[in-house]
Amino acid sequence: MTDWWQRPLQELDREQWEALCDGCAKCCLHKLEDEDSGEVFYTKVRCRLLQEDNCQCTDYSRRSVLVPNCIQLEQGNVDELDWLPSTCAYRLRAAGEPLPDWHYLVSGSRETVHNAGVSIRGRAISDEYVHPDGYDEHIVTWVE
Ligand code: SF4
Ligand code: SF4
Repeated sequence: MTDWWQRPLQELDREQWEALCDGCAKCCLHKLEDEDSGEVFYTKVRCRLLQEDNCQCTDYSRRSVLVPNCIQLEQGNVDELDWLPSTCAYRLRAAGEPLPDWHYLVSGSRETVHNAGVSIRGRAISDEYVHPDGYDEHIVTWVE
């Protein structure tokens, strides 16, 4: 039997689409782009709306209003967002790859993404405490 998350992205309904997220919160980190090369660098500076202990957005329904540069992942843009981490469930499924063992849909636990060291829990800093001009001091290499 095929689980719903093994089906192509375009066959998922809205609820399934939302449920595909692994909860890593890496996409809630601020990123810097090299103007010349276009290369994207992740920083450990996170959006202030993120609750870091569970990596959930504290105001998900109003996120696009409260944080205008919060990216809304949609069926139509996931292929264009090549800065998404290689572990991102949307990126994996868009490429036809299976979900990893630590994904909660596979493991049955929301904790496994954290236990596997994939999420940002415990290693980010809120953007309330970092001036945007200083983001480059917080570039990290643990997001691939
Ligand atoms: S990077 Fe992908 S899987 Fe991780 S929180 Fe963001 S959308 Fe969800
Ligand atoms: S508004 Fe919510 S979903 Fe968007 S970047 Fe901030 S914490 Fe993440």
